[in-house]
Amino acid sequence: MNQEKIWLSSPHMGGNEQKYIEQAFKENWIAPLGPNVTGFEEDLQNYLGENSYVSALSSGTAALHLGLIQLGVVSGDEVICQTFTFSASANPIVYQGAIPIFVDSEEETWNICPIALEEAILDRIQKGKKPKAIIAVHLYGMPFKVNEVLAVANKYEIPVLEDSAESLGSTYKGKKCGTFGRISILSFNGNKIITTSGGGALVTNSQKVKEKTIFLATQARDNAPHYQHSHIGYNYRMSNICAGIGRGQMEILDNHIGKRREMNQFYQSIFSTIDSVSVFNEPNNEYYSNHWLSAILLLNYETREALRLAFEKVNIETRPLWKPMHLQPVFKDCLYYGNNIAESLFEKGLCLPSGSNLTTSDKERIATVIRDFF
Ligand SMILES: *Cc1c(COP(=O)(O)O)cnc(C)c1O
Repeated sequence: MNQEKIWLSSPHMGGNEQKYIEQAFKENWIAPLGPNVTGFEEDLQNYLGENSYVSALSSGTAALHLGLIQLGVVSGDEVICQTFTFSASANPIVYQGAIPIFVDSEEETWNICPIALEEAILDRIQKGKKPKAIIAVHLYGMPFKVNEVLAVANKYEIPVLEDSAESLGSTYKGKKCGTFGRISILSFNGNKIITTSGGGALVTNSQKVKEKTIFLATQARDNAPHYQHSHIGYNYRMSNICAGIGRGQMEILDNHIGKRREMNQFYQSIFSTIDSVSVFNEPNNEYYSNHWLSAILLLNYETREALRLAFEKVNIETRPLWKPMHLQPVFKDCLYYGNNIAESLFEKGLCLPSGSNLTTSDKERIATVIRDFF
């Protein structure tokens, strides 16, 4: 009974992370700048391609905040946000004194529904207020309907802030997630596909935006020998130590994506004989998910809870799909547009252990729970 815990998604080091950290100690580069920060940014830029400019920051949340600031979001503005997401997508809207407007998902990618998005935009315009930005998320690593969402955004000339926190390495029509927004963000939190223990990045295709991001992230210091400020700044830069972990992690990113995709295959084969369960998967081959988390849909809430508890009993972590933002107590007064798709996903869905470091015996334990349950 006292079996070791199997986690949903735990950090997985490749081995070279410590080499980069030791180098930082040797050269006394412990500050939030230095060769690892520059090196990590270059690694990410090479990985994303498409002339992307990357600024390494202290978190994905910080990246979203600086993204909204640079899209001109100020107090009283309205910002559209996918309701089916993690709270960090929406919180920075409120940091800016702006107002979140939540939009439902569609059933194929579980991400922002282009039809509900257009309804929301039209209604807000009719009420006299055009939304200032759209936060779209590739949840669980699954790309959102990029063409359809960008078409709506472009039609109304509203910039997209692409939350790619869970989707590093995913692609849509062969192009990497993290390159579709006017501004995009990544996260390297402990549970993400690669980690720097904590960290994030802002991605743009403009050298100027990158420079402004670093300026804002390092207390907005004007160019002067004394401390001189004409803007409010933030302390959001990534440290050279964390970036060292990131450089080591970049060496094994594609390998980790392979392992996560294998976990998804593993679940697909287990559940192939269980008709009442569907494993979340790409709608067609234009979508390539890193399968950061594998997720299933069950018949109803009761079965979902029963299966979750069966896993919990043998020390295996699972988690219900993310609770939509418009159902969160903190956002209960916010507007919501949609048809309760996200609500039904939350009711019936479960995320299963998906880490790149799960062993054969971990998989056997997981499979046993599922077989016994059904
Ligand atoms: C993790 C996450 C974030 C926030 O990233 P942090 O680095 O933890 O601040 C934002 N959006 C989504 C969808 C996430 O999963």
